[in-house]
Amino acid sequence: MRFSLLIFETIVIMFLMFFYTAEVVSLGTNNDSCEIVENHPEFTWNGKKAAVVLTYDDGLNDHLDNVLPALEKMGFKATFYVFTGSEAFQRRIKDWQRLALKGHEIGNHSVYHPCPDMYSPDDESDGLPDINQYSVETIMMELCLANETLKELDGQEERTYAYPCGQKYIGDTLYSGFLSDDFIAARGITAQSEGIDDHDLYDLGAFMINSRASLEMLIKLTNRIIDRERLVIFVFHGVGGGHEINMDVDQHYQFLQYLKSREDELWITTLRDVVKYMKSE
Ligand SMILES: [Zn+2]
Repeated sequence: MRFSLLIFETIVIMFLMFFYTAEVVSLGTNNDSCEIVENHPEFTWNGKKAAVVLTYDDGLNDHLDNVLPALEKMGFKATFYVFTGSEAFQRRIKDWQRLALKGHEIGNHSVYHPCPDMYSPDDESDGLPDINQYSVETIMMELCLANETLKELDGQEERTYAYPCGQKYIGDTLYSGFLSDDFIAARGITAQSEGIDDHDLYDLGAFMINSRASLEMLIKLTNRIIDRERLVIFVFHGVGGGHEINMDVDQHYQFLQYLKSREDELWITTLRDVVKYMKSE
């Protein structure tokens, strides 16, 4: 999805400029897998100061081959947004089912991943349909079909959605208002964290991570979220080279290690679990 890269990178760069200072944050360690993680009922997020949701978009082989083993080592659950019409997803559907049965969320990212062609009007090589050719009815039908496929896969009744290319409009219509029957929440790509009492469940902010996002920057943002007692959602695509929006596999692993070292303060789980908690509060 070359056309969306420029916009995504602009968002990340703005985010880097805002948060990054010369301060060096030291890495934590994860050398005791038997450590008891304390739960503090007085804290905001299910007994933790802050919540982190790791999301992985587009149903890539990287997620099954590189991300899943790393998450399992840490004991973390995450949300994987797949578009069910993709060849990559369909080729390894049993592997995705196994991933879901381990407790990860498979989120809905449509069937065909429609995006605005305005980003690359002369480039049809991405093979993705133009969302400007859709109506609200056709996108909702597509999302319903994807939900049916995913329910067959994992048996889940509740699921979150991620707007393909972050596009929330069909023509002039903001279609987030049509999602509440089919989804418990939707993730956008506005680079912002969320508060327990201050959020829009159908446009949750998230930080897009690519190769320009340093480990230090991710750690700094995580520390800031802990201090402010908020929810942060990270958006990854390739982890190990499977997408042009990519994070180095070792850097990704080191980031997971850092999150593990702060697990006393962080609730790290699927977006489905966090949203269900937010709705119950
Ligand atoms: Zn996508």
